[in-house]
Amino acid sequence: ETLDKGLEKSKNDFFSKLGKAVAGKSKVDDEVLDDLEDVLVSSDVGVGTTVKIINRIEARVAKDKFLGTEELNKILREEIAALLSETNSGNATDFYVPTDKKPYVIMVVGVNGVGKTTTIGKLAYQFKKEGKKVVLGAADTFRAAAIDQLQVWADRVGVPIVKQQMGSDPASVAFDSVQSAVKQDADVVIIDTAGRLHNKVNLMNELTKVKRVMQKVVDHAPHEVLLVLDGSTGQNAFEQAKQFTAATEVTSLAVTKLDGTAKGGVVIGISDQFQIPVKYIGVGEGIEDLQVFNKYEFVDSFFK
Ligand code: GDP
Repeated sequence: ETLDKGLEKSKNDFFSKLGKAVAGKSKVDDEVLDDLEDVLVSSDVGVGTTVKIINRIEARVAKDKFLGTEELNKILREEIAALLSETNSGNATDFYVPTDKKPYVIMVVGVNGVGKTTTIGKLAYQFKKEGKKVVLGAADTFRAAAIDQLQVWADRVGVPIVKQQMGSDPASVAFDSVQSAVKQDADVVIIDTAGRLHNKVNLMNELTKVKRVMQKVVDHAPHEVLLVLDGSTGQNAFEQAKQFTAATEVTSLAVTKLDGTAKGGVVIGISDQFQIPVKYIGVGEGIEDLQVFNKYEFVDSFFK
């Protein structure tokens, strides 16, 4: 129910547009397919993924066959879920930290303003609620505000934070954070990083160095590289995904601000285009407003 509420805007808009595309239509003809295509593209599903979905529908239903809205919705819903299944594990609902890697190291990347700090705070809250010992690392040393904001979240959640002063070496902070997590026998350490895209080579070098020093403390760290994207920014989110996946190996996505947008389709498009699972979605500013992405719930929320 919370998901439905959080996604109200995406849902209503997507659904009402979808409804209009098929209203009064009795068969899947070119006009209906064109209208569906428009709805998918304008919901930021992305052109490539939209074409895939339309092709799948065309392959499934005989052209000009009578279908009706309900049947068409069902097919769309199944095809979108099938597309997401190629990258997403499916129906996970719990916040989960693997126990065979201790500490489990999560490096969080993304540009400023997308909700990176907030997502880290919400994640720390959920992991702590699961009984996990959490450490935060403030390796976005480029902005004083980033360190302060992470400190605010650390205090709010009640977890330790490792930080240095602004301008210090991010790799040094990351090293200290992972080392501190080991010493404290922590279950999970979440490392914030600076997301400046103005210089791609710098970004790549910095992230590579941060990773390298963490591996001096914990083998194969980071175990997860979580890219945070603002779901309300549409094509910008696609562009950021492109840049970050070029700079480092991104293993999972968090898509934020889906509560305030009619463009929830970005989740489907980015996951498909980059073949990276969406692990979390942000549906508000509050501490509880982060959800484990469940593709069945997500797709259902559009078609209910
Ligand atoms: P950062 O610069 O990437 O670390 O971004 P912040 O975490 O500081 O977030 C930027 C703004 O987005 C803040 O005002 C957050 O409260 C807000 N925000 C983050 N996630 C969400 C979300 O899922 N929904 C909404 N509505 N706002 C969010």
